[in-house]
Amino acid sequence: MSRPYSGPGFWMAGSWSLIGGIMLFIGFILTGSPILNVLGNAGQLAGEALFLLGIFRFMGRPLPWWIVPLSVSLIVLFNIHYWMFSGNSDFLMGVYSTIAGLLPIQAIWLLLREKSDPATRPARLLVGISLLIYSGVTLVRGVLGYHDWWQGSPYVNPYESFSYLLPYNFAIPALVMGFIGVTLMTMQRILANSQLHAEQARSNAMRFERLLGASTSAVMIVKTGLIQDANKRLEELSGLSRKRLSQQPVLTLFPSQSHELIQDHLSRPQASQLDVDALHASGQHFPAEISIAPLSDESDDLVLEIRDVTHRKALEEQLLLLATQDSLTSALNRRAFNAQAQLELKRADRYKRPLSLAVLDLDHFKRINDEYGHLAGDQALQQFADLCRTLMRQGDIFSRFGGEEFVLLLAETDAAASILLLERLREEFSALVMHQGTESFGLQVSAGVASWRPGDTLDSLFKRADQALYRAKSSGRNRVVLWTEDLHKGTADV
Ligand code: GH3
Ligand code: MG
Ligand code: MG
Repeated sequence: MSRPYSGPGFWMAGSWSLIGGIMLFIGFILTGSPILNVLGNAGQLAGEALFLLGIFRFMGRPLPWWIVPLSVSLIVLFNIHYWMFSGNSDFLMGVYSTIAGLLPIQAIWLLLREKSDPATRPARLLVGISLLIYSGVTLVRGVLGYHDWWQGSPYVNPYESFSYLLPYNFAIPALVMGFIGVTLMTMQRILANSQLHAEQARSNAMRFERLLGASTSAVMIVKTGLIQDANKRLEELSGLSRKRLSQQPVLTLFPSQSHELIQDHLSRPQASQLDVDALHASGQHFPAEISIAPLSDESDDLVLEIRDVTHRKALEEQLLLLATQDSLTSALNRRAFNAQAQLELKRADRYKRPLSLAVLDLDHFKRINDEYGHLAGDQALQQFADLCRTLMRQGDIFSRFGGEEFVLLLAETDAAASILLLERLREEFSALVMHQGTESFGLQVSAGVASWRPGDTLDSLFKRADQALYRAKSSGRNRVVLWTEDLHKGTADV
């Protein structure tokens, strides 16, 4: 256990030692036992020295710990000498008072001169002055003791002696004042520290508030699923005031389908992140990134952060399109087609479902470019791609392999059905009238198609469709040719 205020431990020990010493001394007066006198004097001086050490400790100074053994051993030696050689009691009292009066000098100096720690200065002055009075009175008493011993004055009843009465009237009240003073000193320090802590807490809270305010995410503290506190950004993201959101379930910020998932994350002991849609008061959803983390080890409060990632998601989608699509026709590029087609092939193989692949190439396309310009050619490519998309079904995969060559993977489609679809495509395309300025023109397409056979790879399937396309081109264009074994032999002959 850490002790925030140092000093009181010594003061406590000093008090007990002083009280113990006084009790023993009273015991000596009642019984006349020399040992009680020795112990009483030693206890009182040790108590005073410990009390002084407490002052050094309180003020964060190195402890002059040697004052305890020095004062105790001196008085014990003189006391023993007094008893052994029947010395003079006034002389012994002089020695005791000299030690007791000189002991506090160092502490008084420190208490009265210390500049730092202004909060405890009034109490410090009180202690310093009290000790100064104690010290002064005690030294005077010592001088009186030596004087009586020197004069050889006869021993008088202590209660009638001026030197004996002096401490009871002045020194002890001053010492008590010193004890009260150190109590005040401690209280002043406690007060100053608590003010300092309050100020620090206030400034920390302000910094925390500013920090949260500067965040572009909505940050909130959640306790047992309820929103406790949040930054301003939450109002913008949710469309609701913080006042309204206070003590509301955090789940109200999300559409119901993700409640279970978020609840699961809320109950995790460690930090976690997830991507879900969040809900605006208008009912609109927006993509969000959520981080959930415990606020501290001690409490079950959580810090939940919501980041609006609409822009990032849009950018990701755009990048995905750029990486997978052909920019002119929006058909898949070759790489993306290959990846998706592989999956389709696996499915066909696993479930033994029909699958066909067609390779399409526009006829004499070069002429269009040559006669009507590249732009007209581009538009023709776009129109062809649009037509393909309107005729194909969901699950079919459409790709531009390059130039004016396209590939269509027809899922769940056998040879006969694919011929039907491709014939329709061919007819509709040839019926299209395209315009370039005042001129108009038409175009045609040839297609080769092959149906999936067990053991086919995308490559082997493509190769057969390409052979069929070759046949379509070589046999006059504007036609659809299905790959067959005969055809294979035929092309092999060519
Ligand atoms: P065939 O009937 O034998 O297929 O004859 P073709 O003219 O269509 O074939 P060829 O391969 O000789 O010509 C293809 C042309 O397509 C050549 C090229 O200028 C044109 N081309 C390729 N990519 C584009 C494009 O992105 N835009 C335009 N406008 N033309 C393109
Ligand atoms: Mg062509
Ligand atoms: Mg070509």
